[in-house]
Amino acid sequence: MRSFLSFLLFFHVSHCFAEEYDLVLNNGRLMDPATNLDAVRHIGIREGKIAAISETPLAGKETLNVKGHVVAPGFIDLHAHGQTTSDMQIKACDGVTTALDLEAGVYPVAAWYRSMEGTATLNYGATVGHIAARFAAFHPGLEIGHWAVNRAKVAGLGAKPDGANKRATDKELKLMGDAINHGLDEGALGIGFGINYTPAAAPSEIESMFRIATERKVPAFVHTRAFGLAAIQEAITEAKTAGAALHIVHVGSSAIGAMREVLKLIDASKAAGMDISTEVYPYTAASTVLESAMFNPGWQDNLKIDYGDLAWAATGERLTQESFERYRKQGGWVIIYMMKDENVEMAIAHPGVMIASDGVPFIDGKGHPRGAGTFARVLGHYSREKKLLPLMEALAKMTILPARRLEGYVPMMKGKGRIALGADADITVFDPTTVIDRATFESPTAPSAGIPHVIVNGVPVVRDGNLVKEARPGRAVRITP
Ligand SMILES: [Zn+2]
Repeated sequence: MRSFLSFLLFFHVSHCFAEEYDLVLNNGRLMDPATNLDAVRHIGIREGKIAAISETPLAGKETLNVKGHVVAPGFIDLHAHGQTTSDMQIKACDGVTTALDLEAGVYPVAAWYRSMEGTATLNYGATVGHIAARFAAFHPGLEIGHWAVNRAKVAGLGAKPDGANKRATDKELKLMGDAINHGLDEGALGIGFGINYTPAAAPSEIESMFRIATERKVPAFVHTRAFGLAAIQEAITEAKTAGAALHIVHVGSSAIGAMREVLKLIDASKAAGMDISTEVYPYTAASTVLESAMFNPGWQDNLKIDYGDLAWAATGERLTQESFERYRKQGGWVIIYMMKDENVEMAIAHPGVMIASDGVPFIDGKGHPRGAGTFARVLGHYSREKKLLPLMEALAKMTILPARRLEGYVPMMKGKGRIALGADADITVFDPTTVIDRATFESPTAPSAGIPHVIVNGVPVVRDGNLVKEARPGRAVRITP
């Protein structure tokens, strides 16, 4: 009997030795913020999963020697509007392996997920968007889909469309609520809000939509009604009343000058037991579409800026009252110079604040550099050059923290944001001495440097510093697999 067991054991062990890894990363400096491990380790990948983390080098069908480089969990971007293949390829060069649009979101949901199948360089996903659900309630038959991409469908409704500018009656509230519930049934990653873009949505409307978030045990991801402390306080009060978990998007542009007070308020709410979180992108200019309700009369007071603080993204020209009116009729993206570096830095360094890009779709190579350089900029400029925060902490803000934000209700996120046995092989390899963003407002799609390998579900999408153009290993992230 004993010898038979020994035989089985021997057979099993030799079988393991005989197995090859599909891909091996040897000699790298593993940095895993989930465990704080910072040591040389060798990683074996098999069938898209991390199958070995070894103290001795491994052999595989393909081997990359990553000596001198950091091997980190792939970066998770909770705020990525750009979901086309080319937008994703630009983000891949910045170390991103999962790109989710949780703010604006989509509606209808299942059709959007279907449209993404087989097209995705990175793992993708979205919330059900209150904006699109609201427009569908006021404009029957209007299916916006992905709001950030299909804004032309809204532009066709005239200067002040009902979907953004009309109070909802019980009828529209019911339609909206049904739409949001339907989107969650189809696996959406929570409920996304851009209250600033739907100014007629009363606090009572937002509260009743937050109540759906509570019932369905998902967070509300919110771009607040306006900028500054009062608007963030309003969202927190509504979420508390409804009992909903709340994520405030892009705290840099949401808080603007009130950063210290806003971070204090969020920390105090958290200490009092609220499920609340926030994120920041590392730039002092924002970007959105000029025809949106954000630029309804009164925008100068709301944003505390004037015409000259806006630049037309397609040309870079600063606006005047005349060109503002002309371009608003035409529709298109603007860059908004509205933040101070000291406030953005305060958010980046603040414990618990995640890094997310808010990258908008690039059109003919124009747009905001945050869609291309956010993650390398935090690692290279803010962590290495300005010593604003240690590298491990910077990595946590783009890996394990966003994974944990979702994994309570999206089980597949437990396999992301960490280097662990059995986890998805989403891995970013970078040189800590050279990693840096290259994208600028003049050249917004310039790829980040110092990130030689980016692996999604075991498949390199960036290899030896080059984009693997044909790679499409991205999978859907949704509540129901
Ligand atoms: Zn926003």
